[in-house]
Amino acid sequence: MAEFLTTQATAYNIENIILHSKQKLVLISPYLQLSKNFFGRLNDADGRGIETVIVYGKDELKPNERTRLSKLKNLSLFFCENLHAKCYFNEDEMVITSMNMYEFSEKNNREMGVLIKRQDEPEIFKEAMREVQSIVKASIKEDRSYEFSQQPARTSVRDKIPTPTYNAGKPSFSNILKGTLSSILTGEKLDAYCIRCHDRIPIDSFHPLCDECYWVWAEYGNSDYSEHWCHYCGRESKTTKDKPLCSSCFNMVRNR
Ligand SMILES: [Zn+2]
Ligand SMILES: [Zn+2]
Repeated sequence: MAEFLTTQATAYNIENIILHSKQKLVLISPYLQLSKNFFGRLNDADGRGIETVIVYGKDELKPNERTRLSKLKNLSLFFCENLHAKCYFNEDEMVITSMNMYEFSEKNNREMGVLIKRQDEPEIFKEAMREVQSIVKASIKEDRSYEFSQQPARTSVRDKIPTPTYNAGKPSFSNILKGTLSSILTGEKLDAYCIRCHDRIPIDSFHPLCDECYWVWAEYGNSDYSEHWCHYCGRESKTTKDKPLCSSCFNMVRNR
């Protein structure tokens, strides 16, 4: 069951989400102004190699915030102009709340929130993740080189970063994002294939469909419905949700 959170409990649980993140951390807050304490927690997480995604919106970052954030090596920063949602999560827990990140240490505001544990409510967790995915897709990724700029930020973020640029050969933005969010969901690497659409997904014979295909499959729920790809090797093969491996992968697994 989701847990209701008061102001204090919200702040406490957001802090815990940062403290207990294992690999990934996603923080969504329109107003981004970090208290010393909050930045300290982020800095510790960064030191532990936690990949952090921050999405903010509304106001442009102050130059000193930008400089501070630039010290976090594993941070990806996104700007979403019409962001109003506030949501904080790691692999296991999520807080959806009225509390902005800058209000974290402010105990005067009256806030509310809910704590959702992935283990208890995997469906709600997934739905919220899907919405986050959509928010990040609609956001602009900040170019890190701008963060080191000595110039005070005058133009809007949009003017400064017309389009994200990536070096050839690097994985595309949407793939990085998909990987980040999927591995938060699962805590695993994307080392297998969706048996319906061939997208990369985490290896799991019991869940051989990607999220999108899973929901289409679930409308009918037919485990013997014929699919196109082997979950393990990704080769073209007649598979089903119950039997997601091609014969050679199946034999390999069986003989292990
Ligand atoms: Zn799929
Ligand atoms: Zn195979």
